[in-house]
Amino acid sequence: IRKLGFNTDAIITGLLKGNKTQLSKAITLIESNANKHEHAVKKIIAASLPHANKSVRIGITGVPGVGKSTFIESFGNYLIQLGKKVAVLAVDPSSSISGGSILGDKTRMEELVKSEAAFIRPTASGDSLGGVARKTRESVILCEAAGFDVILIETVGVGQSETAVHSMTDFFLLLKLAGAGDELQGIKRGIIEMADAILINKADGQNKKAAKQAKVEFKRALHLYPEKRSNWIPKVKLCSALENWGIEQTWEMLTNYFSLTKKNNFFEENRKQQNKYWLLQSINEQLKSQFYNHPEIKKELAEQLEKIHQQKTTPFEAANYLLTLKR
Ligand code: GDP
Repeated sequence: IRKLGFNTDAIITGLLKGNKTQLSKAITLIESNANKHEHAVKKIIAASLPHANKSVRIGITGVPGVGKSTFIESFGNYLIQLGKKVAVLAVDPSSSISGGSILGDKTRMEELVKSEAAFIRPTASGDSLGGVARKTRESVILCEAAGFDVILIETVGVGQSETAVHSMTDFFLLLKLAGAGDELQGIKRGIIEMADAILINKADGQNKKAAKQAKVEFKRALHLYPEKRSNWIPKVKLCSALENWGIEQTWEMLTNYFSLTKKNNFFEENRKQQNKYWLLQSINEQLKSQFYNHPEIKKELAEQLEKIHQQKTTPFEAANYLLTLKR
């Protein structure tokens, strides 16, 4: 994009008309991080904001191999049949380490990729979780402005990224596998607690019986968690992304959830809370980076560390001193 140059106004006009090429360019600008694009990015976001916020945002997580891409292919195509426009984004800070995107595997989304009504954007390239989260949040705004009404945000169930995705979506779907008798092992408590539904995928062929058993166990496990603020009772369902069943029921469940939470106002309230969360999160990050990157602080930090080492001060005292330094 840098080589080709870009025309901010053309991007905005195209994007608002639902042009995927322009939408793609806009997201590339957001992802570029370059100072020289800052102005263009601000302008694009400002133009998009009045048209944003009209979608439903669904977080999808699960360990690698659970069938996220296959599920998104089936689910996305089903939604398109219903007349929806579907955007697929991914949050995957680990891709900076592995060097490539492990999400948004396009080979398993063959049909969806070709569909005019789908927009698939693989992982933002290497960055901190905060950076990736910000880019994804801003990309959601652009996708919504471009008329996408279902936003699927995928993440791998391996760390902090689920919390970030949970904090930017309306519904959090956990994909699981049955079998090996360890249904309840190896799942982080926090993730189960965040889930609005657990979908046991690959409930086909020889897996069927184990999947049904797992369903019972997950249901029992879910009872142990406190009631959700949304008043929604988390569901456990079976599906086979490969054989393409359980898909329709998943959407039906989601529409039930949206109608409940729109009626009881949780939907709006939750988005407000999320905005607050990201606002405070951004302030925290910026304050920290301003602090630690300040040359005087850098110098004083080293000196204080030495003093602590020499038992001339304590970490607590040194921190107080550093924080009161004029910046
Ligand atoms: P991801 O890493 O979570 O995105 O998982 P993929 O969608 O790439 O799927 C991993 C493997 O599981 C692939 O070989 C899929 O064909 C297979 N798979 C996905 N869904 C199902 C399913 O419902 N049933 C069966 N039997 N296999 C599935």
